[in-house]
Amino acid sequence: LNDFDIAAIRRDFPILNQQINGHPLVYLDNAASSQKPVQVIDAVDQYYRLDNANVHRGVHRLSQRATDAYEGARSKIRGFLNAKSDKEIIFVRGATEAINLVAQSFVRPQLQAGDEILISYLEHHANIVPWQMVCEQTGATLKIIPMTESGELNLSGLDELLTDKTKIMAVGQVSNALGTVNPVKQMTEKAKAKGIPVLIDGAQAVPHMQVDVQELDCDFYVFSGHKMFAPTGIGALYGKQALLEAMPPWQGGGDMILSVSFDHTEYNALPYKFEAGTPHIAGAVGLGAAIDYMQSIGIEKIAAYEHALLELATDKLSAIDGVRIVGTAEHKASVLSFLIEDVHPHDVGTIFDQQGVAIRAGHHCAQPVMQYYGIAATARASFAFYNTEQEIDALVKAIHTTQELFA
Ligand code: PMP
Repeated sequence: LNDFDIAAIRRDFPILNQQINGHPLVYLDNAASSQKPVQVIDAVDQYYRLDNANVHRGVHRLSQRATDAYEGARSKIRGFLNAKSDKEIIFVRGATEAINLVAQSFVRPQLQAGDEILISYLEHHANIVPWQMVCEQTGATLKIIPMTESGELNLSGLDELLTDKTKIMAVGQVSNALGTVNPVKQMTEKAKAKGIPVLIDGAQAVPHMQVDVQELDCDFYVFSGHKMFAPTGIGALYGKQALLEAMPPWQGGGDMILSVSFDHTEYNALPYKFEAGTPHIAGAVGLGAAIDYMQSIGIEKIAAYEHALLELATDKLSAIDGVRIVGTAEHKASVLSFLIEDVHPHDVGTIFDQQGVAIRAGHHCAQPVMQYYGIAATARASFAFYNTEQEIDALVKAIHTTQELFA
């Protein structure tokens, strides 16, 4: 854990430097939303102070600067994901909107009754419900890759689940409820070998690991900015250019057209075809700044540090009597779901808060995972690269305090 100037990093996150209920804030709810460094806050602030205007339409200076900032952020995302072209990066509100876009624009037009969509047991509701909706709209069937007790996907039947009726496989790279890192590259290979398109939900992956969409060879990749140190309300959809070109627009409005008359409307080129209306320009600027910030630290370094932190936390929690870790996959990223015997997770969350420790208690928008284990909820600590060994100790102490209160 030493090859990391954690004190300097924490100074970049002013929100971390505060007391909650008389204790230093220990923010372990990063899987829900991460904190923002001053570099991101300043980028948004500067944008509004100096450059704010609407994009793409104006000939005046501010509009040009706003457009440059917005399109500059798109290029940063292209680099961050190693996409081939800026045309493959569509700004959206977040992972949820991106999945709905693909479900409605790419999948729905090709779906017929009896077709299949393949997802996994570990998905966030954002990668379940949009598919259920298109299934309802078309008579297609949702198929599920099963999971195991350790919280991993059981891939032994994947070949049988990928059929000539499967119109898309949509899987999460990292489970937000358990932290499991799924072998999405191998899964994608199998699907592609049968000509089946693949969407990867990277919402919990991009804050923690290097992602390369060309290496993954997925057709779509989605993520949210707010989980990777950027503002809320902005995220990205990556799609292979040829697929995006062939897809109809999802929403209609300004900016996504070349020309409009009552007889005929011609749609704009990529990526604008999918960006109807005035976008979240400041959010995009903030997302670009967040990418710069992560890259300035080094994503491999972030991954290594967080891995060490998770190992440490896992060892410490495993050693506590009456604590059960839910999700014990071999490959995990930055999430530790757990139960304290005889204490409801919501009580755990409340008692932790009294000690300044922010965690999440609930089903984590992954109710099927909870149903698999026969539980309603877990307590979930989730880490970012600004968390420290001392904060793991605070987590452990909060568990002991909770157990004493309920003893
Ligand atoms: N997928 C996963 C794996 C997530 O963790 C989340 C957010 N918890 C989402 C999708 C949805 O992200 P958003 O709410 O930002 O659209």
